[in-house]
Amino acid sequence: MSGYEVVIVGGGVFGLSSAVQLARTNYKVIVIDKFPIPSPLSAANDYNKIVRLEYNDMVYAELAVEAMGYWNGEDSSLLPARLLHDCYSHCGRISVVQDPKTRRYAFDESSLRLLQEKFSRCRDVKEFKDLTCGGKFPQLSDGQRYDIFRYNPDCGIGFARESLLKMKRYAESLGVVFQENDGVVEVEKFRDGSQSVVVRCESGKRIHGKKVVIACGANTSAILPMQRYVKATGLYVGHVQLSDEEYQKFKDIPVIFNSSVGYIFPPDAQTKMIKICTSAMSAYDGKSNGSYPVYRTLEPHTAPSIPISAAVRIRTVLGKYLPSLVFTSGTQSQLRDIIDCKICWVSDTANSDFIIDEVPGMSNVYVCCGDSGHAYKFLPNIGKYIQQKLENKLPEPLARKWSFREANWNDAEIEWRVEPTKLAIQDVEWFKESYGHAKL
Ligand SMILES: Cc1cc2nc3c(=O)[nH]c(=O)nc-3n(C[C@H](O)[C@H](O)[C@H](O)COP(=O)(O)OP(=O)(O)OC[C@H]3O[C@@H](n4cnc5c(N)ncnc54)[C@H](O)[C@@H]3O)c2cc1C
Repeated sequence: MSGYEVVIVGGGVFGLSSAVQLARTNYKVIVIDKFPIPSPLSAANDYNKIVRLEYNDMVYAELAVEAMGYWNGEDSSLLPARLLHDCYSHCGRISVVQDPKTRRYAFDESSLRLLQEKFSRCRDVKEFKDLTCGGKFPQLSDGQRYDIFRYNPDCGIGFARESLLKMKRYAESLGVVFQENDGVVEVEKFRDGSQSVVVRCESGKRIHGKKVVIACGANTSAILPMQRYVKATGLYVGHVQLSDEEYQKFKDIPVIFNSSVGYIFPPDAQTKMIKICTSAMSAYDGKSNGSYPVYRTLEPHTAPSIPISAAVRIRTVLGKYLPSLVFTSGTQSQLRDIIDCKICWVSDTANSDFIIDEVPGMSNVYVCCGDSGHAYKFLPNIGKYIQQKLENKLPEPLARKWSFREANWNDAEIEWRVEPTKLAIQDVEWFKESYGHAKL
C-alpha cells in the first residue's frame, strides 16, 4: 500500500483537529478509527460539552481564548469561520461557588482573575444568592436558594457529536482519507527495516506513514506502553427526556455547574434530552494493571450503565437545580427515568497536562493524549500545536509542558476536579434503567 505522510490513529478531538490542520497545509493524511466517527469510544461523543475560558494556567487560558474565537465565529485563520460556530451556543454558565477552604475555590478565583487581568475576558461575571441570577433565568425559580451562584455569560457549549462530524466532513473535503471500523492493534515501527512507520489494523491491513500520531484517548495504552504516564478514568453521564412544554421552558437555560456534585446542560434541540454529568466521582479499571489502573480492553459495551450511586447523584443534581424534572411530568411520585446512562472514559495525566510528544525510543511515532477531561473545547485549535510538534516547531514552553514525564500518582493533583470517590468497575453495582435493559 502506498504510504501517507501522516497516519493518525483515533478520530476523536486530538485526531480530527490534527487531520484538519495538516490537510490544510497539504499533507497526505489518513485517519484510522476503531469505529465510525463519532465513535462510541470517543469521550466527545455526546450531545454537548462545555466550552469555558476559566483556567488558572497561562498556557491553557491562552489556548481557550484562541479556541473561543473559532467557536464564536470571530476567527477564521485556522478554520472556515462558521464551521464550528454552527454547532456552538454561547449560553453562559452558572457555577456554584465552592467552600473557600477548597482547592477548587482557589482554582475558580485565580482563573477568573487571570482571565480578567490578562485577557480582558469574563468581566461581566456576577454573583447571586438565587439560581435565577436576579431574575435573568426565571424558569429556574424552583431551584434551591442556599448556594451562592456565579453567572459567567462568557461561556458556551459545543454540540459535540455534531462538531466531530463536521470536522470529519471538512477533513474529507480537504482530501483526508478515513478508514473506519478497523482499530489499530500495533505499531510495527521496526519490523520492515524501512524509514516509514507501519501500523497494523484488526483487519490485517498494514498502513505505512512517514509519521504516525496515536490519538486514541483513554484507549491509548492498548497500543503504546503508556501505563506510567496516563490512566483511564471513567466519568458518569445520564439524561432525562423532556416533554415539548418542558423543552420550551428550559431551552434557554445556561449550563448549571456544581464542581462537587454535578452539572446540567441546556436541552438538546432535536431530542429534547437534558444531559447531566456527576462530579466528584469516577471509575477506574482495578484489574488490568495493579499499580496504574488502565482500562486496556476498552470497548463501548464493557461498562453497561453507571453505578447506582451515580444515578442517585444525578437525581440529587436535578432535585437541587431543576426539581420539577425529578418526577415524570404530571405526577408527584413516579421518578423520571434516568436514561442513556454511560461511563465516558478519558485519559488522565497526574496533573492534567496533555502529552503531545514523540514516543521515547520510537522515532516518528507521536502520542497525543492525557486530555484529563478538558480537551473538547480545543477541537478547533489543538491540531495546530500537534502539527508544530510534528514539524519540530512547537515553542519550547509548550513542548516542555506536554512532554513525556514521570507521573506521581500518589500525589496526583487535578486541582479543578473535585474527586473524592473512585470506584473500581469490578465492584460496581450497575444501575438498570427502568425502560429497556441495561446495555450489557
Ligand atoms: C463525561 C465527560 C464530560 C466532558 N466534558 C467536557 C467539557 O465539558 N469540556 C471539554 O472541553 N472537555 C470535556 N470532556 C473531555 C473531552 O471529551 C476529551 O478531552 C476529548 O474527547 C479527548 O479527545 P481525544 O482525541 O484524546 O480522545 P477521544 O475523543 O476519546 O477519541 C479517541 C478516539 O480514538 C479511537 N480509538 C480508540 N482506540 C483505537 C484503536 N485501537 N484504533 C483506532 N482508533 C481507536 C476512538 O474510537 C475515538 O474515536 C469530557 C469528557 C467526559 C468523559
